[in-house]
Amino acid sequence: MPAIEVLPTIYQPALRQINDLRHTRLDVRFDWDKKHLIGKAVLTLQPHFYAVDSLSLDAKSFDIHSLELVGVGTKPNVPLRYTYRDSLVLDIKLDRSYRRDETYQIAVSYTAQPERLVNHPSGRFHYDNKGLYFIMPDSLNPSKPYQIWTQGETFSSSCWFPTIDAPNQKTTQEITITVADKYKTLSNGKLISSTANPDGTRSDYWKQALPHAPYLFTMAIGDYAVIKDKWRDIEVNYYVEPPYAASARAIFGNTPDMLTFFSQRLGVDFPWEKYSQAVVRDFIAGAMENTSATLFYERLQRDERELLEGNDDDIIAHELFHHWFGDLVTCESWANLALNESFATYGEYLWFEHKYGRDEADAHLNKDLRTYLSEAEQKQEPIIRYYYSNADDDLFDAHSYQKGGRVLHMLRYYVGDEAFFAAIAQYLKAHSFKTAEINDLRMAFESVTGEDLNWFFDQWMMSKGHPELDISYNVDTTKGYAAVIIQQTQAQEKSISIAYQH
Ligand SMILES: [Zn+2]
Repeated sequence: MPAIEVLPTIYQPALRQINDLRHTRLDVRFDWDKKHLIGKAVLTLQPHFYAVDSLSLDAKSFDIHSLELVGVGTKPNVPLRYTYRDSLVLDIKLDRSYRRDETYQIAVSYTAQPERLVNHPSGRFHYDNKGLYFIMPDSLNPSKPYQIWTQGETFSSSCWFPTIDAPNQKTTQEITITVADKYKTLSNGKLISSTANPDGTRSDYWKQALPHAPYLFTMAIGDYAVIKDKWRDIEVNYYVEPPYAASARAIFGNTPDMLTFFSQRLGVDFPWEKYSQAVVRDFIAGAMENTSATLFYERLQRDERELLEGNDDDIIAHELFHHWFGDLVTCESWANLALNESFATYGEYLWFEHKYGRDEADAHLNKDLRTYLSEAEQKQEPIIRYYYSNADDDLFDAHSYQKGGRVLHMLRYYVGDEAFFAAIAQYLKAHSFKTAEINDLRMAFESVTGEDLNWFFDQWMMSKGHPELDISYNVDTTKGYAAVIIQQTQAQEKSISIAYQH
């Protein structure tokens, strides 16, 4: 039996910003047999504050064909010296020092090899974090469709393009995807053009003019039926396998109503250029909120009869809510993941409350309580955690999701509806297309309510545990009252409060 590796728990800061990623231009095609991506990346960068003469890019298990500084005007490109640390990080020496009022461009030609990454000597890589996935028929499932899709969160976008793979980077994006003409493609932003090539392939050019974090980049490629819907003047599309074309609206059809409801409730309109949702095979999670191009696991594909047993509004609402909490305002580090996930989980509650009523929403929240309490028997952590070993393994749990959603619900109850949504709107507007940490959220609530809320955030976001209560009562029939005795029994603190109820 292999020894279980116990990693030390260490302080996990936000990545120090030395160079800022401004724009990412990608040109990709594929070798399906080898499961390779053949890519060219042109990155526009700018020193964050201090002058720089070097640049580090995450690029996991690539073959690098060329790495050049892009010449300005008529100047030719210049090859740059670099070392490739553990086949994971390119440490690049620039041609000179750059100041913060200057930008520069790096062009990288490469082949990304996600399967080789799985055999990386560090042992850190496996199916769930190799970033780029080739799906095809196999002996177990000869009818499996051909698909390519990506999964970037948390550090896996750099498995298919060179980048600064951290949530506190934001970049605009262009990508040209070349595939056999029979396949549809999906990426972030808008499809600007499709060009037929002489070799029978087609090149789709997607552009997102609004900045977002590298972990939210995506591609989905396959034989899809694309069902077109609409919200205001933006496209809302559903990508399903052709046999599910007839039920796509039954699966995803509440999306335009959700867009209206969330835009109004949050006081900030859905900010992106389109909204597409695609189902992919063998996905590593339930879904992923890639900006304007959410991917879902195949269990969403159900026919109308199966949908009579219930819909998937919870997961659809969750991913859509991320487009404000996560995609528009991004946690500055994974320690603050709850700023993405607690809100997305609470988005499910808000949709249920709006669409199906308070009872349905409360029942959903009660399920969340049970999920958290069950996990709490195994581990108890602060919702915001700067100390952990591995973001993927440690943070995506019932603390960040279900407990965090319930704490937001409690905060709403404490400050009142009007203050709650005013504070959230203030937080969203102040940090749009930027990042935030938990203190930014607290400050927005303090600004709106006028109250110092350190006590609340310290207790519920920054400390672990929850109240453990013994509740008993005595009825005094002669005096006509009942004494309800609530005793907190958790180890950290003890207090008794007695409430009388006539
Ligand atoms: Zn989520």
